[in-house]
Parts: sequence; C-alpha cells; structure tokens
Amino acid sequence: MSRIGVDLGGTKVEAILIDDNGIVEARERIATPRFEYEATVETVARLVETLDQSAGRRCRVGAGTPGAVEPSTGLMKNCNSTWLNRRPLLGDLTRRLGERVRLANDADCFALSESVDGAAAGAHTSFGVILGTGVGGGFVAHGRLIQGPNGISGEWGHTPLPYFRSDADELEGRLDDRPCYCGRVNCVETFLSGPGLARTHNALWGEAREPRDIAAATDPNGRRTVELYCRQLARSLAQIVNVIDPEIIVLGGGVSEISALYRRVPELWGPYVFSESVNTRLLPAVHGATSGVRGAAWLWPADYNSDSNH
Ligand SMILES: [Zn+2]
Repeated sequence: MSRIGVDLGGTKVEAILIDDNGIVEARERIATPRFEYEATVETVARLVETLDQSAGRRCRVGAGTPGAVEPSTGLMKNCNSTWLNRRPLLGDLTRRLGERVRLANDADCFALSESVDGAAAGAHTSFGVILGTGVGGGFVAHGRLIQGPNGISGEWGHTPLPYFRSDADELEGRLDDRPCYCGRVNCVETFLSGPGLARTHNALWGEAREPRDIAAATDPNGRRTVELYCRQLARSLAQIVNVIDPEIIVLGGGVSEISALYRRVPELWGPYVFSESVNTRLLPAVHGATSGVRGAAWLWPADYNSDSNH
C-alpha cells in the first residue's frame, strides 16, 4: 500500500507518493514559506491532500524536518529553519491531517532511505551522514531508526572535531577556533559542512571559493584543501566507528560528491579506530537528493500492516 513522504526543507517542501517497492507514483514540490509557521503547516497539509487525491485515499504520512521533536514536550528544537523551533509541528499536522503522521529528523530520514533500498541495503547496521549546508547523521539497526529520549540520535555534527590542530596543515594554516551557531566551538559541522570546507580553503590559501568549486578542484591548492578535509572526516568518522561500529557508513549532501573521500578516508581512519583492522565500508548514497523524502516515507515501513511491532 502506498504512503506519502514529505521533506520539509529550508527552501522547498517536497512530497512523494511511493509504493511498497520504492516506486515513486507522484511527486509535488513547492517553495517553503520561510519564517511563517502557520503557512508552513498549511503548505505541508495541502501537498499531502494533493497526493491523497492521486492515491484515491488518505495515505499514511512521514515527514522529515530539520531538528527534532523534543520528546518531553512535543515541541520542535535544533531547527536551522528557526521558525519551527518551540512549535508543536507534529501536533498541528496531526490536527490538520488526522492520526496518520510521523516526524523524524531529515538526516535520520536519509539514513533510513539508504538502509531500506540504497547503499546500505542488506546491512544489519549503518550510519548515514549528511555533508551539506550542515552536518547531520542517523543510525539504523536491523531496519529501524535508533531514536532516544533526547531525540538527537546520530547528531555528531555538534560534537567537537577530534584531534583539532594535531594535523600539520591545521597548524600551518593557523585555522582559528570556529564558533558554531549552537553556542559551542569547533563543532564537526564548522569544518565538514560545505561552508566549513570553503572556510578552511580560505584560511589555508586566502582564496574565497565556493564549496562546489573546491570539491571539483584539480589545482594544487584545491587538492590540498580536499586532502585536509579527508583527514578531518577520517578523524570524525573514526569516533562513530568506535562507538557504534556500523557495517556501512553512507555519505550524502553536496560535499559527498567528492569522489576522493571514498578512497582516502578509509586509508586515513585506521590510526583513530580501536581495532587492528577496519572492516566498515564507506559508500556514496544511491538515492542522492531524493533520500530525504524517500526515508520520510519509510517511517511507515512496507511491512507495517503485517508487523504489529512497528
Ligand atoms: Zn555546533
């Protein structure tokens, strides 16, 4: 039976109708009403109703959002789309659409999508990573998202960059401390996001370049920036391997398109992993930019009707 997935992004809201086999039957997309909470709720509701009409019935709805629901209050938190914070988004969507809505963090939806039928299909455990405007992550075990009492599972983007300034380039380039919007300093996100990559390049070489341009660079400066990025990513992912030991780590988001990551990072992460050999595999996302909306839909699994444990 088909279900609806919604990806509530900072610039656009995308929604799909998807069947049990992962075939997308209909797709809708509209600009996000930025800084207008009530209009955002209404926009999501109307997209869902449009896809209900395509399906000929009221479907179950999964929605991926920035940030998370604070379990103790039901209010949104940690959203970079700040107009959602401290709002009862799940409650308001349920009131508008009925008891058929599930919400999850957008990076969690990405991880779930790649686990269901993407790069991590068939793996018992996987960690999905978004390397984009921000940095997020999600952990899937045995087909289920791991979600905890704080609603922040997988949020390694706001942990400190491990071994900062242990690397010669970080010293030679005199990378300054990086305050993060979250109030902390030197969060992984401030180095491994697209803007973080551009900031590192500027600090090393005094050149203002777009992350996309650095990612595709063939000149020595650009390549050396990417090499430092690989070392930072290797140190950061090694901590994930140490804690949850996933079979597969899947990378998504704009920066994940740097093909060198998949060769260099596994060459570099060994010294930081508490094991003589590292069997974890690092892979690019299969579904790319559509993983968020697909994973949101999979918040209602294909076997939902036959498995009462969900
Ligand atoms: Zn932070």
